[in-house]
Amino acid sequence: MRSLPLSQIRLTDPFWTNWQKTLVDSTLPAIYKQLEETHRLSNFRRAAGLEEGGFEGKFWFDDSDVYKYLEAAAYGLAIKKSPVVRKQVDDTISLVLAAQQPDGYLNTFFQLKHPDLKYRNLHTMHEMYCGGHFIEAAVAFAESLGEKKLLVGAIKYADHLLNTFGPEKRRGYCGHEEIELALIRLSDVTKQAKYRELAHWMIEARGHSPSPYIEELADQESHALSPWARGMLLQQERYTGEYFQDHAPIREHDKIVGHAVRAMYLYIAAADLAADAADEKLDTALETIWTNLVSRRMYVTGGIGPSSKNEGFTEDFDLPNLSAYAETCAACGLVFWGQAMLQATANAEYADVMERALYNGALAGISLTGDKFFYDNPLESRGTHDRTPWFGCACCPPNIARLIGSLGKYVAGVNDSAFYLHIPVGLDVTTRLGGVNTKIEVKSNYPWSGEIEITVSPEKPTDFELLVRIPDWADDVSTDLVNSEDEADYESGYVRFARRWKAGDVVKVDFGIQPRWVESDPRVRDNLGRIALTYGPLIYAAEEHDLGFAPQLLSVDPELEVEVTESDILGGIKLLATEAISEREDFVEGLYAEVGTTGVRENDAKFIPYYAWNNRGPNSMQVWVRKG
Ligand SMILES: [Zn+2]
Repeated sequence: MRSLPLSQIRLTDPFWTNWQKTLVDSTLPAIYKQLEETHRLSNFRRAAGLEEGGFEGKFWFDDSDVYKYLEAAAYGLAIKKSPVVRKQVDDTISLVLAAQQPDGYLNTFFQLKHPDLKYRNLHTMHEMYCGGHFIEAAVAFAESLGEKKLLVGAIKYADHLLNTFGPEKRRGYCGHEEIELALIRLSDVTKQAKYRELAHWMIEARGHSPSPYIEELADQESHALSPWARGMLLQQERYTGEYFQDHAPIREHDKIVGHAVRAMYLYIAAADLAADAADEKLDTALETIWTNLVSRRMYVTGGIGPSSKNEGFTEDFDLPNLSAYAETCAACGLVFWGQAMLQATANAEYADVMERALYNGALAGISLTGDKFFYDNPLESRGTHDRTPWFGCACCPPNIARLIGSLGKYVAGVNDSAFYLHIPVGLDVTTRLGGVNTKIEVKSNYPWSGEIEITVSPEKPTDFELLVRIPDWADDVSTDLVNSEDEADYESGYVRFARRWKAGDVVKVDFGIQPRWVESDPRVRDNLGRIALTYGPLIYAAEEHDLGFAPQLLSVDPELEVEVTESDILGGIKLLATEAISEREDFVEGLYAEVGTTGVRENDAKFIPYYAWNNRGPNSMQVWVRKG
């Protein structure tokens, strides 16, 4: 199964068209402004010799934010014309290409600051991570706009890598995975196998002892670039490699470990390696890691990586709410990896997780205005967590931007004889099915409504399968093939209609969205005695702004009715409300007193979608509320 080219698919439901409009009108110009103000663009000007000065900025991987912005902008411009964004993008592309060395190398930190130390510190200095994002931006322009100016530079860069690393050359791979998946994308767009082969070789090289990073630690000049890294690489003076998934050869990985974003990017590329070689052992390893992640180490929001210490994974069932790290990039990465697994297996379980991460953990990373961002996404706040316009390490803003812009790639899939609707958004697409050009139109107001209508219009009658995913949360689904007696069947989480289609055939599906309370595996100690409210794919949260008091005081009875009302707040969300009780805060003097001293009062408790919290100023929030 493959995704649909972004040039062919258009999203049409109010929810996502609004987010995509915000991307072009607000998010992209806001990010560009930050790139300029934080000297990220100056660094390219200086490396190109267009401006005097050295490297400026906090992080050696600042270039990557420029590339991710470009990638998001390529998707945005394919959705909506904008002279402002177009001009900013053209200027940026010219700068990037001007800064590239004649031999293909490109990294402004090393070019300006350490020209003699290129590729000497692969474990921490992120040169190939930046290069990977350069390639992804170039591929995005080629694929969604047919523009190949940046691609020429990216090919030159990839050829420079091919001349430096690989079998018979240097054994080296980047401490922050990304280049692998980027080289695979470059291979797809150029039809050149050599880039995919280098990516696969890098995946295979990783995790074998001794790691090349140990040698780098002994190199004084390399070590001087990142003296702090020693503590991350060594535990009691022993190298473990878990932080960057360098702890074991890929087929021996049996659980999700280390830095969350690094892990996602590695396994996206590994899924390609497994598919390419029909590699059962690698398939099994990836399924095992995935199962460990989604059944023991993922928040209900699809956020992953609970710890700020390693920006990553800890132990099974360690999912604290208040201190949850759950980086926006990691939730985006989970959507990307989910898609890679989904395309390899056509199993809807992967789309269930993609949907969870997309509508909750990832989307919470951006404000409704599109110009403020969360880096970490806790499931509880006591009023101090607030979105900001930018970060010193600014990976998250352009990552959520590129996900919103490229969403058409994730919601549906095709092969020659089947169309899959993974996430029931509204869309229009024309693609070849059963050898015939076929228009598919999905009318939807998801996630506010579970009713969708799919109209199929092949140029002439043709046979193919139409598959619609039944979400894991949906337990009352109805389907109707209008004016036909044909029956549907079920396969791997999809309802399937296999038949001869003619123009104007209509399928109606109702997922029966109702408010539902969910609970956790009791081994998630932080959620004991707590429940969370959901509505279709959305996880809801209680916010102080609606309650008038901190949601930590609240207890709810899941047996009571939950009322659903339309609203015009927060972009037109559905509000959920139920009767609840809350502790009184007018406690007796002193910190402690005999049980029964605290009074309770009855309240009407309102809940809003988790993604929409913190859009009315900082205030307390809670996803997992006490069950009373
Ligand atoms: Zn990030």
